[in-house]
Amino acid sequence: MKKKEFKTESKKLMDLMINSIYTNKEIFLRELISNASDAIDKLYYESLTNKKMKIKKDDLEIFVSIDKDNHTLTISDNGIGMTKEELENNLGTIAKSGSSDFKKENEHKENIDIIGQFGVGFYSAFMVASKVEVLSKKYGSEEAYKWTSSGVDGYTIEEADKESYGTDVILTLKEDSEEEKYSSYLDTYEIESLIRKYSDYITYPIKMEIEHTHEKEKKSESDKTEYETVKEVEVINSLVPLWKRDKKDVSEEDYNTFYSDKFFDYEKPLKHIHVKAEGTIEYNALLYIPSHAPYDFYTKEYEKGLQLYSNGVLIMEKCSDLIPDYFSFVKGVVDSPDLSLNISRETLQQNRVLKTIANSLENKIKKELETMLKENREEYQKFFEAFGMNIKYGIYDQFGMNKEKLQDLLIFASSNDRKFITLDEYVEQMKEDQKHIYYACGETLDKIEMLPQVQRAKNSSCEVLYCTSYVDEFALKTMRNYKEKDFMNVADASSDFSSSKENEELKKEQEKDKNMFEEMKSVLPEVDEIVYTSELDEHPVCLSSKGEISIEMEKALNAIPQEQSIKAQKVLEINFNHEIVKTLRNLYKEDPDSLKEYAKVLYSFSRMIEGLPVENPTEIASIVCKYMSK
Ligand code: ADP
Repeated sequence: MKKKEFKTESKKLMDLMINSIYTNKEIFLRELISNASDAIDKLYYESLTNKKMKIKKDDLEIFVSIDKDNHTLTISDNGIGMTKEELENNLGTIAKSGSSDFKKENEHKENIDIIGQFGVGFYSAFMVASKVEVLSKKYGSEEAYKWTSSGVDGYTIEEADKESYGTDVILTLKEDSEEEKYSSYLDTYEIESLIRKYSDYITYPIKMEIEHTHEKEKKSESDKTEYETVKEVEVINSLVPLWKRDKKDVSEEDYNTFYSDKFFDYEKPLKHIHVKAEGTIEYNALLYIPSHAPYDFYTKEYEKGLQLYSNGVLIMEKCSDLIPDYFSFVKGVVDSPDLSLNISRETLQQNRVLKTIANSLENKIKKELETMLKENREEYQKFFEAFGMNIKYGIYDQFGMNKEKLQDLLIFASSNDRKFITLDEYVEQMKEDQKHIYYACGETLDKIEMLPQVQRAKNSSCEVLYCTSYVDEFALKTMRNYKEKDFMNVADASSDFSSSKENEELKKEQEKDKNMFEEMKSVLPEVDEIVYTSELDEHPVCLSSKGEISIEMEKALNAIPQEQSIKAQKVLEINFNHEIVKTLRNLYKEDPDSLKEYAKVLYSFSRMIEGLPVENPTEIASIVCKYMSK
């Protein structure tokens, strides 16, 4: 029998498959099962228009069998089958497909990851098999043929015997090597789990013969227990995926069980979103919003993405393009018949489909969150505790490109009983003459509430948003304003809650004490300015900042290892109504050395109140003790 050569392109692709260093060799099974399913589809659809064909839907099936003695794995279907010419054209060449273009495009990429993601069909069999035989009989034909190949050197086609129409793909597995145990594909359990993993939702039954060991029935009580092994044919796949079912046929429990099985999370999800889209692009999606962040969520190990199916066949475990970074917590599956298994064909078109699906999913997720925010604040708070940080990252990421989309998903605890409110609610409740949206930063709500600046805002009946996470302020700074109201940190020196008349008087006093402040500043190189304030109740001092960098940002930025440390421009505010002012004025006249020591102590106190470290604690301790011992 004459051996025929593969067409050059096929040869190249086969070479790639045979020598593939690709670790995910197991996907060959998915590819062959998908081909089988396509062949059955073709037969079935033909029969719908051709009355002469007597095809019963219930008979259509894929059968996977293992022959340990011969070291073979066989995938059989009762689909359309192939003629001699078709065997030749379909398996001898891949001229029509774009696979070679795809290969060229990706040649420079070391890891040929794309094989696993989109598959290159039939040829992937050569990743695990030393010999591939395809025994096929076309529906309606009398003859059957067998195509055989052991690799790049070519293939043969000969007449063969096959009882009924359809195709058997018989793989003689490669010998085990150190890196790869090909014999694991002879293990029933392994094959079963691969079918469940990759082909669970193929719409035709995938059957296998499974051995079961039963206890033999005893003839009398005194008999020894004996076992017998029986072979039973079982359907391995679950046939209709949850996401393709009608919403009314799926119970809450079904949704939850599916979620925990699929995503290994034993806590119930907060929400599910079931989408059935029809129109120019058809797809089904089932998305979940988890109720807590996975342990690695805020690390770089976490991979976002949705499972992507094409007509029930898994093509990608985690398709990251389907979900924007700020919604990376969403889990789920997407299934679209408009995505072909083989990306090689029309890469561009594929991307367009993916993009359209991604856009509409993003809108759906956003709507769902907005509804939750409106209708169930408690649940939303739970969501926000877990993933709010991610939304805030989303706001300042990419220079605020997505801020408009996300700003209404933010909530903050507010000075009004620490209730969580949205920015919109804040603005609604603002005093008429209030120009800014005020916020305050600190480690905990308790600490924030104790800040003198928060007290003074409350005294002038301004609501304050409490920011306990370091990303908060970065997000607010990126947004700059909301509904035309600028954000302002209460610790910003330009925030001012007193009347202008009061202010003028203070300015005069400040002017009087200009030289005293200069004297004090001479020992406080970090302090940009010393001012009087009248808004601190009984607190003697506070520290505020001016300019772009707030004290809270200084803390966050300096927690990141980098060469230069970043400093906020600091303003030491002294309560003009406090006793300490008299003392300072006296010292300025009578004891300038002590004035300097007082300045150091006051500055250290203001740093402590802000949660900044005291940089010279030993010096401060001895100064304070000196005065305490007097
Ligand atoms: P693809 O399925 O992406 O077109 P493949 O390399 O997997 O590419 O298969 C090439 C062709 O071989 C298929 O398009 C189909 O026409 C034919 N083929 C493969 N497997 C079968 C099968 N089990 N039954 C009938 N035809 C098949």
